[in-house]
Amino acid sequence: MIPQSYIQEVLERNDVVDVVQSYVQLRHRGRTYTGLCPFHNEKTPSFVVYPDTQSFYCFGCGAGGDTITFMKKIANLDYVEAVKSLASRAGMPLPQENDETGRQRSRILAMNKDAARYFYDQLNTNQPQAAQARAYWHRRGLSDNTIRRFGLGYAPDDFNGLQRHLRQRGYTDQEMLEAGLIKRSQKGNLHNTFWNRVMTPIIDLRGNVIAFGGRVLDDSKPKYVNSPETLVYKKSKTLFALNVAKKDPSRRYILCEGYMDVISLHQAGFGTAVCACGTALTEEQVKLLTNYADEVVLAYDSDEAGQKATARSLELFRNTAIKVTVLNIPGAKDPDEFIKRNGADAFGRLLDKSANGIEYNLDKLRAKYDLSTDSGKVEYVRDAVTLLASGLTPTEREIYAGRISEQTNVSKATILNQLESTVRRVSDRQRRQRQKDLQKEMLPAQIKVPHSLGGEKALAAVSGEQQLLAAMLKDPSIIPGIRERVDPQELVMPEDQALCRVLYSMPPQTGPGILATLGSQLDEGQMALAAQLLARNSDNPLTPKDVELFIQRIKQRTASQRQAPQSEEEMRRRLADLTKAKTQSNTQS
Ligand SMILES: [Zn+2]
Repeated sequence: MIPQSYIQEVLERNDVVDVVQSYVQLRHRGRTYTGLCPFHNEKTPSFVVYPDTQSFYCFGCGAGGDTITFMKKIANLDYVEAVKSLASRAGMPLPQENDETGRQRSRILAMNKDAARYFYDQLNTNQPQAAQARAYWHRRGLSDNTIRRFGLGYAPDDFNGLQRHLRQRGYTDQEMLEAGLIKRSQKGNLHNTFWNRVMTPIIDLRGNVIAFGGRVLDDSKPKYVNSPETLVYKKSKTLFALNVAKKDPSRRYILCEGYMDVISLHQAGFGTAVCACGTALTEEQVKLLTNYADEVVLAYDSDEAGQKATARSLELFRNTAIKVTVLNIPGAKDPDEFIKRNGADAFGRLLDKSANGIEYNLDKLRAKYDLSTDSGKVEYVRDAVTLLASGLTPTEREIYAGRISEQTNVSKATILNQLESTVRRVSDRQRRQRQKDLQKEMLPAQIKVPHSLGGEKALAAVSGEQQLLAAMLKDPSIIPGIRERVDPQELVMPEDQALCRVLYSMPPQTGPGILATLGSQLDEGQMALAAQLLARNSDNPLTPKDVELFIQRIKQRTASQRQAPQSEEEMRRRLADLTKAKTQSNTQS
């Protein structure tokens, strides 16, 4: 556990606006700042930063929290890592980490390192199967130097070799299970996760071995086996070879489909090749890349799956500052094969000729239509114009219009004309959307209460309880007074109850920055809820009078619930009470 006082200091030294601004372009608007949300794709800003409460909230995707939450999400870090990263940003000495998770994490990392060593050693024994594994790597064109550099290895054809080795080094079976290095079979026996496979260690940015990828030596299935996700390995947040690539001075990265492409590109002298690990590219990986790359060349396979991945990745990069181009690999199915056939220099020239996203998409459109027919031309121009209508500068439009004109023999003036009216239509639509977004932001929260919790009838109570929570978040000094009057059970929504309990359990404190105090106690959803409540009430003063009103609304519902019979049984009991009371009053009179 990091001491609360340390977290407090980290937050005092890292203003939320400063931190966000180094990732997102922000515009000042009144007491707040707005910008394009880095956590979802959008064209009009719905991401708002609140200096008063040191929080942020996106009205588009609901992401929200304090500076630490932002750091966690933008840089793919866990809580402790985010605190550390902010601390070093502010030049603070690092806190001591001695909690159980930290201990577990370092055990797994140490074990992975031992396992990587073991796989490497197994590749270099004089066993015949080791020779086969070495032959496999050599056949793929890798030199011994590259094998060493990437720590490539071999998992022998046995079920318990690694397990025995790690036991000798003092690790328990439980720890090996947690590291994903052994597995339990359906019969309940423990066995190695990897056997008879060539092994590639996956290394994080700090040089830790966090996982392994294993491939069979022949064509048997499954071709690839990868480590499961563990305490130290989240595949959606990992890019293979980024630890090596980040040392390369070039900021033009090459994004490949698999480990093999990456390794052979590095061997050929392209030090910025990386790939996603056993998954399609994720938004988190794209964000990670923005820290290192100004330009990314997509170098996926030329088959259908590769083309799909290209389209998907282009979409993911759209709202980033990264310039993306697509590599066309003529006469080869992937970069690895191309380099083997034509050499590294030829590949370098190919990289320089890679097409930007627009060119790539135009080429694809063009291939779709038969331009020797009039109808083909008309449809091509129509689709191409739509493609060019958003996100281009006038100069770029001019250039591409010229290109389409050459391809179709339609005059450039006509194409530009059509383009301009499409641009107007698109920007009208964007303006309307922007107005809608703004309205959404201004309107009171659209609260949906599930039917089981009272549906619309509970709406007043729910909006009351959420504003009460907002009031407590904005001014924690009122918490003790409210705690005496409102029981968390009286709140309608379970998430409101949970947040209320955390607020009640807080040590007394005054002043803003409450999210900082709550940070380590709230999960991501609760943190987003707290940020949302603050965001929705940022221009709401929430006076003591308001607070009184919110409490009244909650009490009204509690009272009406007491009156309303809950169940048949209760109804009978009440009836019995009533009859009894009547009998008594009759007797008395
Ligand atoms: Zn968003």
